[in-house]
Amino acid sequence: MLDLTYDAPAPKVIAGATGDWELVIGLEVHAQVSSRAKLFSGASTLFGAEPNSNVAFVDAGMPGMLPVINEECVAQAVRTGLGLKAEINLVSAFDRKNYFYPDLPQGYQISQLYHPIVGEGEVLVELGNGTARVVRIERIHLEQDAGKSIHDMDPTMSFVDLNRTGVALMEIVSRPDIRGPEEAAAYVGKLRQIMKYLGTCDGNMQNGNLRADVNVSVCRPGDYEKYQETQDFSHLGTRCEIKNMNSMRFIQAAIEVEARRQIAIIEDGGAVVQETRLYDADKNETRSMRSKEEAHDYRYFPCPDLLPLEIEQAWVDDIAANLGTLPDDLKGRFISDYGLSDYDASVLTAEQENAVYFEGVVAKSGDGKLAANWVINELFGRLKKDETEITDCPISPDQLGGVVALIKAGDISGKIAKDLFEIVYTEGGDPAEIVEARGMKQVTDTAAIEAEVDKVIAENPAQVEKAKENPKLAGWFVGQVMKATGGKANPAAVNQIIAKKLGG
Ligand code: ADP
Ligand code: MG
Repeated sequence: MLDLTYDAPAPKVIAGATGDWELVIGLEVHAQVSSRAKLFSGASTLFGAEPNSNVAFVDAGMPGMLPVINEECVAQAVRTGLGLKAEINLVSAFDRKNYFYPDLPQGYQISQLYHPIVGEGEVLVELGNGTARVVRIERIHLEQDAGKSIHDMDPTMSFVDLNRTGVALMEIVSRPDIRGPEEAAAYVGKLRQIMKYLGTCDGNMQNGNLRADVNVSVCRPGDYEKYQETQDFSHLGTRCEIKNMNSMRFIQAAIEVEARRQIAIIEDGGAVVQETRLYDADKNETRSMRSKEEAHDYRYFPCPDLLPLEIEQAWVDDIAANLGTLPDDLKGRFISDYGLSDYDASVLTAEQENAVYFEGVVAKSGDGKLAANWVINELFGRLKKDETEITDCPISPDQLGGVVALIKAGDISGKIAKDLFEIVYTEGGDPAEIVEARGMKQVTDTAAIEAEVDKVIAENPAQVEKAKENPKLAGWFVGQVMKATGGKANPAAVNQIIAKKLGG
């Protein structure tokens, strides 16, 4: 576990006409399981295939077809549970959630209402400035995704694409421990990061592979603490659920407008009605989708086609032993092994590809701090300018490590290093060979530097007089010598020699 102490962030407070209000948020995150086949059929999960080309008879709800559970999807849910430090239930079971919709040909969704595969866990959500909150996970269950109805392709007809029907989802349900819009986004971001590290969900929100139902309520200051002491929900306000959010920005905006809507209702003497709402990004408002009275009666019952799912502890232990490094642990290691700041370690572990790249640079250069500087400032800056991802980076960790090694050895100055970086980035090649071939080596030979200093002093007698009275002006001479040597003189040696000559 990360050996850092954090302060709890302050909850978001909205000032109403009758006093302050605080936000309480709980999220139900739907994460598509990374798996080649669907949860109960062998059909492909490939995104962007021809409509209705990845559909097995089971997915299409053909009569007499029986679901067969995909072991890899179960393993992925277990991995995710372990990554969230959660209880793994060795016995879980599938239930039918019955409803009618054209994109659900079975007439029911197979889910896990009563006995989920993963129980209670927790996620550390960092918010910068040394603040973080532990958000409790209530459960994770496996379920089938639905297909896609398309209503905007034809004025008189609707279409349905069943490619997504039956794809495995993990529903990750949090406790109402999230206290503001930024925290909600940071929580989703943290889940996404952990699952990407584990390889259990690709986290692609644009493709809908990660989406969240956001539950929001408001309460008076002090009420949430009473809830935490007693776990009694009656201390909290009535919540509304905003369905199917797949953008971090919209999640935050929706929470804010929804909280303000609820505050206005209560302050007007009304009561918030528990209901499902939709967020309209164009109008920045939430709209009622269905109230509790019109809520579906899903008539849940144990799915008769599937036996309870029993897994063995030894199998879980084996998965745990091969889980790989989690982002928090990796971040902790970067801080302790390389002396990086919390911020730098966060940046370098945000995406696993960054961390792997960084460690490649360290391996070659042997200097973690210098490597971190070069990766974060120079490389990321350069990639951003080119709108390139680290996965398409034209300079390899070994090459950048080579540049850093030359700086560390004192072979090139910081300024020359930037030129060298640009050469290797655009032209490729071995940094040490380029430095040799193009004469970019730093001049540490004091006699050569002294000759340059003498020349500059001889050519500028007036400046010398001024500098003798005001030592701060020595910097001008340093600049002249650096210019004359094409930035190759060792700055420390130049400073020293100039100070000696001007002082003496
Ligand atoms: P349901 O079974 O009706 O969906 P759950 O107890 O499963 O209700 O809760 C669903 C989500 O709503 C959970 O993520 C939970 O944390 C959140 N939640 C529950 N009560 C509140 C509340 N008062 N304010 C905000 N979120 C809440
Ligand atoms: Mg629920």
